[in-house]
Amino acid sequence: MLDKVVIANRGEIALRIMRACKELGIKTVAVHSQVDAELMHARLADETVCIGPNPSKDSYLNIPAIISAAEVTDATAIHPGYGFLAENADFAERVEQSGFTFVGPTASVIRLMGDKVSAINAMKKAGVPTVPGSDGPLTNDDSRTLKIAKHIGYPVIIKASAGGGGRGMRVVHTEASLLKSKHITQTESKAAFGDDTVYLEKFLENPRHIEVQVLADGKGNAIHLGDRDCSMQRRHQKVVEEAPAPDVDESARKKVFDSCIKACIDIGYRGAGTFEFLYEDGCFYFIEMNTRVQVEHPVSEMISGIDIVKQQLRIAAGEKLTIKQSDIELRGHSIECRINAEDPKTFLPSPGQVTLLHTPGGPGIRVDSHLYSGYTIPPYYDSLIGKLISHGETRDIAIRRMRNALEEMVIEGIKTNIPLQRDIMADTNFAKGGFNIHYLEKKLGI
Ligand code: ADP
Repeated sequence: MLDKVVIANRGEIALRIMRACKELGIKTVAVHSQVDAELMHARLADETVCIGPNPSKDSYLNIPAIISAAEVTDATAIHPGYGFLAENADFAERVEQSGFTFVGPTASVIRLMGDKVSAINAMKKAGVPTVPGSDGPLTNDDSRTLKIAKHIGYPVIIKASAGGGGRGMRVVHTEASLLKSKHITQTESKAAFGDDTVYLEKFLENPRHIEVQVLADGKGNAIHLGDRDCSMQRRHQKVVEEAPAPDVDESARKKVFDSCIKACIDIGYRGAGTFEFLYEDGCFYFIEMNTRVQVEHPVSEMISGIDIVKQQLRIAAGEKLTIKQSDIELRGHSIECRINAEDPKTFLPSPGQVTLLHTPGGPGIRVDSHLYSGYTIPPYYDSLIGKLISHGETRDIAIRRMRNALEEMVIEGIKTNIPLQRDIMADTNFAKGGFNIHYLEKKLGI
């Protein structure tokens, strides 16, 4: 097993990783910015190292500072969590070159999946269903671009191969605006990502977002832990997630699971990962792979009984995956509500001191949060302050438990999105399931 892990992250996921390390008897090092000395996991870690000032670029994105922290504490591995450097191939490479274990896939796999054109090609080879598109980059031959779009049918979407975080995409509804959009996306992509490679695919108008959780050991073994529906989104940010995805065509689902496992083996995937799909009219379309643990991993843990973070650490230690697909039994239904420090109407961040905290409990309720009474949420980082997770034998029971939990939860001193989450859990269309990615914005009137 790993001896000592640097947790290169903050907030709820840093605490989540620390809990898994402690269970496995691994020593922990919390690295934090100046203001984050007050974080719950920094208080509980075996050692702490301040890696820089509060802005992320000077601390959580500061590669030399994180590697130095691993050196001075004599750590053996670095867990990147999600966000920050988790999908930065250069970071993974520097970690390994410095003699530490990176808890995640190899740098070359992160690179392969970070470039959308190469990711789609790798997926196609493995038989993963992709969106009908240009089959690689668009060339300077504009007449060819026009021909491809006509063949696919409008609307289409032009995407930067190096794009990410919802940037570098443009929807095109008519032939008249195709070439202009292509050229603008190329110019913007060059400026933002230093690469002007763009490609084109069919724009799906009312898809759901469904993703598949996988675990692989890089030694030829891979399993899936089922799917998650993350269609409740605002501005491409997930608000509620659930597992399994309700009302999915069973034969399409089985095929997609098999293809994800094949893809993991084909690319030599190592660790936890997620294949993200758009799902429309009974068909799955791959959009991207996330090569890290995700915010919403707990709903898959609740239905599978597998601790994904502990598996990440075991795989990083070089262990073979001992769980077989036939060992996995997905039970019941799980829902996660993200709790953000923000105004529930304007969505403006609401940092400040938590004067009182009461967390819910009871059967089938889990709270993943680093909050405590008296903790001051700093204004520098993401507004996610915790996750409420419910589990029940049926989707209906999971919803009822979540409603109770949201009613019981008290956070005073700051504004949170709990009122919005209560509205969603009371929504009759949510209760039915199967809503698409535009549903929440329509409900909110935006
Ligand atoms: P990023 O890496 O920037 O997150 P993705 O490829 O994952 O980019 O796409 C982000 C979001 O953009 C998707 O969740 C979906 O809402 C929308 N999107 C991307 N591709 C398509 C498509 N072909 N049709 C419809 N919507 C799309």
